[in-house]
Amino acid sequence: MQRLQNNKTYDYLVVGAGLFGSVIARRALDAGYSVKVIDRRNHIGGNLYCEDIDGVAVHSYGPHIFHTSDKQVWEWVNSVVEFVPFINSPLANFNGKIYNLPFNMNTFCQLWGVTTPEQAKAKIESQREGITDPKNLEEQAISLVGRDIFETLIKGYTEKQWGRECKELSADIIRRLPLRFTYDNNYFNDTYQGIPQGGYNTFIERLLEGADVELECDFFAHRETLENSARKIVYTGEIDRYFDYCFGRLEYRTLRFESERLESENYQGVAVMNFTDRTTPFTRIVEHRHFDKSCKAKHTIITREYPQEWNDKCEPYYPIANARNNTIAEQYRKLASAQQNVIFGGRLAQYRYYDMHHIVKLALQIEL
Ligand code: UDP
Repeated sequence: MQRLQNNKTYDYLVVGAGLFGSVIARRALDAGYSVKVIDRRNHIGGNLYCEDIDGVAVHSYGPHIFHTSDKQVWEWVNSVVEFVPFINSPLANFNGKIYNLPFNMNTFCQLWGVTTPEQAKAKIESQREGITDPKNLEEQAISLVGRDIFETLIKGYTEKQWGRECKELSADIIRRLPLRFTYDNNYFNDTYQGIPQGGYNTFIERLLEGADVELECDFFAHRETLENSARKIVYTGEIDRYFDYCFGRLEYRTLRFESERLESENYQGVAVMNFTDRTTPFTRIVEHRHFDKSCKAKHTIITREYPQEWNDKCEPYYPIANARNNTIAEQYRKLASAQQNVIFGGRLAQYRYYDMHHIVKLALQIEL
């Protein structure tokens, strides 16, 4: 362990109390380092934060289900707090008709009436439009699942989600979605899947136990003082802002959440319902109590998600993967990797559409 330099108050200053920053904080604390964590919001946890509304844990910034096939990652998170098994099986609602997700035999049967994998494969094959080298999300989707699924379950949702035509988006975005020829509605292909016992707040609280935490603290408002306060900085904010937008501004997508309390114990019968048509203005309705089978509340909380164009006054949730942004982000990432004593990590500081397990994996690999 390196010793603290005389003029520094902390070994580590972690900018952003989200998942990446909190995992690094835990590792640094366990190694005996002193750690300060700041966050511009008034709570820890970043987008994992949940609000308890009379016994219903509301995922305030969208639903989070932890999934991974990496045993080391799974064991590490479970050593912090036990994860309760939860299988995510969202549904798609297209103009009032329900389809299973991810794309599987149930979906193919609902769409085309086919009942065997052979029939489903033949149907998809006939709709692939001869695309062999997909250049964008639309081509990627059609080459993977054919025209019908693209039009019914992908096009509307994706264009609402990203505010751009499918032709203008990177093929990578859709590669996350599984396609399988079994009757299996498990959204994720991973070996392990769950939600922390006691919720994500407990998980993050344990990660940050022992750190000095300061909330409502904007790094950029006190940059010089903060940078001088620690031997190493862990930066998890927007990468373009860190470098004063020297290569131009990256685009982000934001979300507006509209929550409603209903005096019912079951509004939609599932945790996540995607609305894949273009006319419904929101992308999905999340009914939070379904994430927690032990929930005893007599009411339910639902949240409608409205993706929106991002500006400086709202939260940047998603990096937007298109050719322009990918090129600019690569320039920033190069600059970041040359920075001494600054670790860049997380969705915003890497400008990558990471899942939680990617973030944990990366944070566990960082050399302290
Ligand atoms: N997607 C879609 N239809 C759906 C669900 C997802 O077309 O019903 C596409 C969409 O482009 C989305 C991407 O798949 O941006 C990734 O979806 P995922 O559910 O992984 O997104 P997240 O939970 O990260 O918002």
